[in-house]
Amino acid sequence: MSKPPTGDRPSFFDEGARVGVLTTQPLDRVLDYLAPEGGCWAGAFVEVPLGPRRVTGVVWGPGEGDFPAAKLRQVNRVLDAAPMREELRSFLIRAGEYTLTPLSAMLRLATRVPGLGDPPSMRKLYRPGAAEPARMTDARARVLETLEAQPGLTLKELTDAAGVSPSVVKGLVARGAVEEVDTPRDTPFPRLDPDAPGKPLTEDQARAAGALCAGLRAGGYGTTLLKGVTGSGKTEVYLEAVAECLRQGRQALVLLPEIALTAEFIARVEARFGARPAEWHSGVTMAERRRAWRMAGEGGASMVVGARSALFLPFRELGLVVIDEEHDTSYKQEEGALYHARDMAVLRASLAGARVVLASATPSLETWANAEAGKYARLDLTARFGPAALPAMRALDMRAETLPANRWISSKLARAVEARLAAGEQAMLFLNRRGYAPVTLCRACGHQIGCKHCDARMVEHRFLKRLVCHQCGESEPIPAACPACGAEDRLAPVGPGVERLAEETAERFPDARLAVLSSDLFGSARALKEEIARIAEGGADIVIGTQLVAKGHNFPLLTLVGVIDADLGLQGSDLRAAERTFQLMRQVAGRAGRAERPGTALLQTFQPEHPVIRAILAGDEEGFWRAEAAEREAAGMPPYGRMAGIILSGPELQELFDLGTALLRADAPLRRVGAQVFGPAPAPIARIRGRHRVRLLVKAPKSAALQPALADWVGQFPVKGELRLAVDIDPQSFF
Ligand code: ADP
Ligand code: ZN
Repeated sequence: MSKPPTGDRPSFFDEGARVGVLTTQPLDRVLDYLAPEGGCWAGAFVEVPLGPRRVTGVVWGPGEGDFPAAKLRQVNRVLDAAPMREELRSFLIRAGEYTLTPLSAMLRLATRVPGLGDPPSMRKLYRPGAAEPARMTDARARVLETLEAQPGLTLKELTDAAGVSPSVVKGLVARGAVEEVDTPRDTPFPRLDPDAPGKPLTEDQARAAGALCAGLRAGGYGTTLLKGVTGSGKTEVYLEAVAECLRQGRQALVLLPEIALTAEFIARVEARFGARPAEWHSGVTMAERRRAWRMAGEGGASMVVGARSALFLPFRELGLVVIDEEHDTSYKQEEGALYHARDMAVLRASLAGARVVLASATPSLETWANAEAGKYARLDLTARFGPAALPAMRALDMRAETLPANRWISSKLARAVEARLAAGEQAMLFLNRRGYAPVTLCRACGHQIGCKHCDARMVEHRFLKRLVCHQCGESEPIPAACPACGAEDRLAPVGPGVERLAEETAERFPDARLAVLSSDLFGSARALKEEIARIAEGGADIVIGTQLVAKGHNFPLLTLVGVIDADLGLQGSDLRAAERTFQLMRQVAGRAGRAERPGTALLQTFQPEHPVIRAILAGDEEGFWRAEAAEREAAGMPPYGRMAGIILSGPELQELFDLGTALLRADAPLRRVGAQVFGPAPAPIARIRGRHRVRLLVKAPKSAALQPALADWVGQFPVKGELRLAVDIDPQSFF
């Protein structure tokens, strides 16, 4: 018999009543069943018969179908989990409608937990018993001593600690000298103490924290942009909002863009609140995932730190969602259900009556515009904490440089690096390109080695001694001869990647200790974390990195950042190219001078007059946003207009173009809402993993009811067989 959910007043269905159950099977309709013995609550997780199988589902409400009562089957059983609250059910419905994702697929996102169908799970714990053992041995004495010191151990913990075999423990249990107790496997997380003293805040910080706490006390939904340069104390400030949320007995969720950042963040939480929060991301063990999911539902996890999928946890009483680095592109889920975690967090909070904090030094244009329009509140932290000052930024005009072939570090940048080395400080060279060289060219015939499965060039990774496709991961040994013309030893790397930059750096600064930070060079999040800690402690003189280094790590000795190619992100036709470059350059520059010593950022560029480069250098953020916003508004582009991408993929290119053309001709449902469709065209990456990709783009006025129109439109052409049609609402990248 399940416990009633808390917080809302759900309906109860007596045994035999007709209930509607949503299952995780791709049926897209709620099926009617009879309530099981003992009845069930709306929201209960259940197991139901479906054809010959048993599947997981949720009691969605009273049954409504006209399925004949005599043929109805009964719910098999109610699962051992807190029922899903009304708020989460509404969220799944609304998020599914927004992203055009079937409800069953949304439910799958909310039930991705190991062991949901398992019977109530208990485990045996051991503690001292009342009786004395008849005969005392050394081994027995060790067991009893261990338990005196630490009652409540599992058998494995106990035998390990006492250095005995399980039979010794079992013998003591038989004599009553040790007691065996059945305990639920998933226990609440330790209490976080919101009143443990935090750091004394600066005036600026205290004002921002006060505003966030006041919002929480006022109750109800509200979103705030917390904007502040890297190092200004945004984390300190939003931890105060977490404290207020905990005081109210509600739950706080903090989303981070990168698993590699969680360890550092968890340590800060522990230092602030005296215990560790629950974690939810791919690096967590099955047992801990299961515990986090269940405790979110039962209220035994007051704070959860996680990746975007934590948005689908069954919180008992969500009070606050923080999205750290809210502009980060990793918040967009690009496979399966295509959703943006920031936007979905705002939706969920509005349904839960919770507050949202969007923290960033360089907010997305969407968030900036929402704050401008007054939809979000905005708090600014203007100064860095303590003596740390923002780095001075300068352009190095590469047109004036005469670099030899295959060299990328200008003489000015090299001199700046030398000066830091002499002063015992760290320098960072930033290049957002993994591998050794982006292109491998045959000098005999001009052939460029491409991926067999994708429309992408193979990238040389000298460290791995292979060519790798960054689209599909396909790799092959570096060939000795050109695959096109057969010429031997004529293949040459063209252009720089971080590995090649490392080579140049090692030649120019032979005495410096180098560290290369690129995601593909680390086997695990832990290895990466250790390397970051080593660098922070001064274990390297020059750090070479990809965008991985832009994300919030703290290197106190770092005082110089050299950006090898500031123009890199400005190429290409992406709507967000300028915004991304601006954010990335500001973030990277923010790595310099985090402690007492002031920092400098030098940007190598061939277009120092480019408006984006000038805005970066001038540090005129508001000016940059205003100009960018005006341009997008004039073009009717997001966030001032709406867009959706339609990606058709399949093995036959012609078939995709045929379908695309058919869609284009049948655009009446779109025209009715004032939307236009463009395409079909090969997607920017026209082939991935052997599948061709063709794209259509839909553009609509801001006020258009786009989703229903899209559903009507694509619904005219049900795709079959190996063809796929994916709708991407608010596409982030145009791939
Ligand atoms: P952000 O999140 O804006 O990058 P953090 O909150 O991480 O900034 O703060 C940067 C550094 O300054 C951290 O090491 C933090 O502990 C420290 N710091 C910030 N504010 C204070 C404060 N009021 N007292 C002591 N240390 C602080
Ligand atoms: Zn490939």
